[in-house]
Amino acid sequence: METCEFCDTCYFFKEEFQDNPHTKEYLCNTLCNEHFITCARYKIAMSNGIDDVPRDLLPDPLTCLKCFAKCNSWN
Ligand code: SF4
Repeated sequence: METCEFCDTCYFFKEEFQDNPHTKEYLCNTLCNEHFITCARYKIAMSNGIDDVPRDLLPDPLTCLKCFAKCNSWN
């Protein structure tokens, strides 16, 4: 399985989702480990560098919103 090369430096990946641990785990497992090429943060990091990625940019807004809704139902 390929993993995003920015996993060690990406703020999103390192950030703890204290209120949504399931969401963080799910997103990292599915997006960062499998589908990172579709990640908005990854695209900016590849073109401009990881330091230019806005801190609050979601990797994939649609996937994230669905995931937050689903994961919140687990809590
Ligand atoms: S959020 Fe995107 S850029 Fe950050 S580690 Fe995951 S796939 Fe890579």
